[in-house]
Amino acid sequence: MQKLFLIKYGELNTKKANIGLFLKTLQKNIMNELQDITCDITFDKGRMYIKTAENNFELVKEKLSKIFGIHEIAIGYELENNSFELLTDNLIQLLQEKDFKTFKINTKRSDKNYFLTSPEINQKLGGVVLKNIHDVKVDVNNPEIIINVEIRKTNAYIYFETIKGLGGYPTSTLGKGLLMLSGGIDSPVAGFLAMKRGVKLECIYFDSPPHTSIEAKNKVITLANIIGQYQGHIKVHVIPFTKIQETIYKEVPNEYMITIMRRMMYRISEKLAHKNHCKIIVNGESIGQVASQTLDSMSVINEVVKIPVIRPVACFDKLEIIALAKKINTYETSILPYQDCCTIFVPEHPVIYPTLDKCIEYEQHFDYESLINEALKNEVIIKDQIKNDYSDYL
Ligand code: ATP
Ligand code: MG
Repeated sequence: MQKLFLIKYGELNTKKANIGLFLKTLQKNIMNELQDITCDITFDKGRMYIKTAENNFELVKEKLSKIFGIHEIAIGYELENNSFELLTDNLIQLLQEKDFKTFKINTKRSDKNYFLTSPEINQKLGGVVLKNIHDVKVDVNNPEIIINVEIRKTNAYIYFETIKGLGGYPTSTLGKGLLMLSGGIDSPVAGFLAMKRGVKLECIYFDSPPHTSIEAKNKVITLANIIGQYQGHIKVHVIPFTKIQETIYKEVPNEYMITIMRRMMYRISEKLAHKNHCKIIVNGESIGQVASQTLDSMSVINEVVKIPVIRPVACFDKLEIIALAKKINTYETSILPYQDCCTIFVPEHPVIYPTLDKCIEYEQHFDYESLINEALKNEVIIKDQIKNDYSDYL
């Protein structure tokens, strides 16, 4: 009997023709995450098995809980074969070390030629447990322990403990996206949700020194590194935005400043996305949250790009976004009080219902194309310190 992790894929099993791609990517991601730990990783239909030394279990568990594509992680035992005698002997041995009064047995049988059906195994094993362990009884509704048994072609497995995985699709299966990452609460959460759908992210940050501080930039890099843990590593493209913002401040009527600024951000993001083979832009816009996120604002801003813009938190309210930010550990960093470029140039009365005609008219006041090209030319790329590299299968 050997202790091990059983990895369940959940939703991935619904992929028919493409399942191979999803599983291959998941396997690579897991191997990458565990590359510094001696592990033996094997696969069969619907399951992945990871064996490692007992003292690595906690670390491996923690790493597995941050990998997208894993639906559930079970910690259990593999038996050398699936004979019923071996199963009962090992089960009793394991149960003797446990303290419980009520139990339930849950059997899954992928070997359909096995001489007992799943309900028969539940019943027979239940009888063996009642006979060998004193003072216990079956409780199917609220048992103290659930004894999970899996009968596979060549082996059987027993496990009591399961942990919920992150779910979603393995990082990279859907290709790359560019996340507009500010230092706020919304965009890291939006990034996490896009990653969960298998999108590998790079980040773009618009930096406006000296109007924004080095701390504001560091905060964005910290946030990128926090969400980067879910995909192995992450790259941040820092775009100098000062000149564009100052020009807008001079040339554009106050109430349209934010609208025009965001149109510039979108234009730059699209160009950078194309250059880096990102198929979508992801951002943290949420319908109605601020003047630039009314439907009118979003449509005149979106109008400057062709690339799809995905807004994972578009329909979340702020409390829902905060709850998720706390869960993924970005909240405490996001609320640090460093202003970013949007908060510094906020006019008193930003337009709520901007029109496209006005945007086009105001943009004729300055040569934005060359400002955009100059900003892109001066981008600074920051790669995180996390070593994993997935580039070989992008
Ligand atoms: P967040 O939305 O991240 O909490 P915020 O609400 O202050 O920050 P908004 O002004 O609402 O930001 O901007 C909406 C979205 O635009 C952000 O979620 C982010 O995706 C993008 N964005 C804003 N400012 C920047 C920036 N300086 N660099 C990159 N992206 C930005
Ligand atoms: Mg926001």
